[in-house]
Amino acid sequence: MEMDLHCTRCVLSESRTQVVPPDGDLDSIVCFVGEAPGEKEDLIGRPFVGRAGKMLDRLMLAEDLDRSMIMITNTVKCRPPKNRNPAKEEMAACFPYLEQELEGRRLVVAMGRVACMNLLGKDVKLEKEANVPREVQVGGNRVEVLPAYHPVACFFNIKARESLRESIRIAKGLIERDG
Ligand code: URA
Repeated sequence: MEMDLHCTRCVLSESRTQVVPPDGDLDSIVCFVGEAPGEKEDLIGRPFVGRAGKMLDRLMLAEDLDRSMIMITNTVKCRPPKNRNPAKEEMAACFPYLEQELEGRRLVVAMGRVACMNLLGKDVKLEKEANVPREVQVGGNRVEVLPAYHPVACFFNIKARESLRESIRIAKGLIERDG
């Protein structure tokens, strides 16, 4: 389903400032998927422009991957009040947008448990499952999902930071080869 900037498919539409659509190279073979817009994203209208985004930028810079080389989006496109986790019904309501965004992607980096849960349909243990790719059916497409740590986890957890850097390296390797 094409993104609707006036979407009212779930209750998040009542409290958001604006819908936050995908950003970056919308034709990239790689898509990074986060959880939900935060306060800054809600105000500016772009994903990962706040604190988490700064961490992601830093890690990408360290791996020489520019944001303009990838597509970046979220599990839900509207900010949940007080940055609570998106509810199951909200993720389900937003899923048709994600499904459309992931069409044609070769690799989907699912950052954090919420994105992993949404795409893999089960809770993942990132300590064990990060950077182990999984093929899943997303709507009409088979996509390769790479479970990854969320950038927020990387503030205090060096293992998470190293692991997300590895996810970024995997994405970059694929773009260099096939992108
Ligand atoms: N900003 C986003 O756009 N997504 C997140 O998951 C966190 C912060």
